[in-house]
Amino acid sequence: MTNFIVTNNSAPKSDNDRNAILENPGFGKHFTDHMVLIDWEKGKGFINPRVVPYAPLSIDPANMTLHYGQSIFEGLKAYKHKDGSIKTFRPKSNAARFARSAKRMAMPEIPEELFVEAIEQLIAVDKKWVPEDREKSLYLRPFMFATEVGLGVRPASKYLFLIIASPAGNYFPAGIKPVSVWLSKEYVRAAPGGTGEAKFAGNYAASLIAQAQAAQEGCDQVVWLDAIERRFIEEMGGMNLYFVYGKKNEIVTPSLTGSLLAGITRDSILQLAKDLGMNSVEKKITIEDWKKGCAQGEITEVFACGTAAVVTPVGLVKSSDDEFIVGRGETGEITAKIRTALLDIQTGVAKDEHNWTVSVG
Ligand SMILES: *Cc1c(COP(=O)(O)O)cnc(C)c1O
Repeated sequence: MTNFIVTNNSAPKSDNDRNAILENPGFGKHFTDHMVLIDWEKGKGFINPRVVPYAPLSIDPANMTLHYGQSIFEGLKAYKHKDGSIKTFRPKSNAARFARSAKRMAMPEIPEELFVEAIEQLIAVDKKWVPEDREKSLYLRPFMFATEVGLGVRPASKYLFLIIASPAGNYFPAGIKPVSVWLSKEYVRAAPGGTGEAKFAGNYAASLIAQAQAAQEGCDQVVWLDAIERRFIEEMGGMNLYFVYGKKNEIVTPSLTGSLLAGITRDSILQLAKDLGMNSVEKKITIEDWKKGCAQGEITEVFACGTAAVVTPVGLVKSSDDEFIVGRGETGEITAKIRTALLDIQTGVAKDEHNWTVSVG
């Protein structure tokens, strides 16, 4: 165990205020009473691990992140189980991905044990913020950015690692309802050799204009295509995609070509589908495959998956020259089955055969 110094918040939210927030948390709007901070300095490594009251940070105008953008993050959830224990889902996978993101952005790699312990330390003081309801959780947001002051362009010599926590309800305001998607042929999210595999803040900044375009076209979300041929399906917004071939009892997800983000939900569903007696396959899939598959009744459902929204059905596909419906445009049977099976493991209703859940409190 590392020596975390814990400073309790002397003015935490009252039980009434907290319960009102937990009643209707939304997503990413409210934060718990504490946060984790760990410094990194060249020559010293990760130092001063601490839990402190949640509060604003003071930033120098010449902070290197504000100018050159070294900033990465993770997202994972803690659920309260019936026996009162609090569990996170595959936190070591988040730690490993965080280290990979750090490496790509020339940032220091936080050891896996310190990453997981930091989560435990935060939950220990903010336990009361983990909702009981199955459709709710405590969303944990580890992140790290450069804190060195200066305008020279190079990897910074100082960083701050933080974890903040936010009670979460449904990610999409409408709940589990099929979303419509816009195939983005003008803008791309990631290119070979780029930063698409890293959970890097700048990827999101670059995606916003395409998301705005999708909204302008009447769609809920943007679907990213490969940067070169603009034909291969990559992801939907900040989520991975699955295509359900109902008659073949098979689900297909785009393979990790180097420009997709390797989702932990995506990886879990590859296994879960097998557990449920389905084939799960990673391969390249084109816009034409998607359209033809739907027209011929082979693709019966499509869904997106990620930590925040878990599993979200896709009902309608639009692009500059086309529009088609997936299945009946409703939430499909297999989509619902996979969502339930995953949530059952995360919330402790079903047996956790793969030891995915980790007790943090
Ligand atoms: C985080 C993220 C995902 C989903 O990853 P999970 O580990 O399943 O939450 C998918 N795509 C992008 C671009 C992401 O940033």
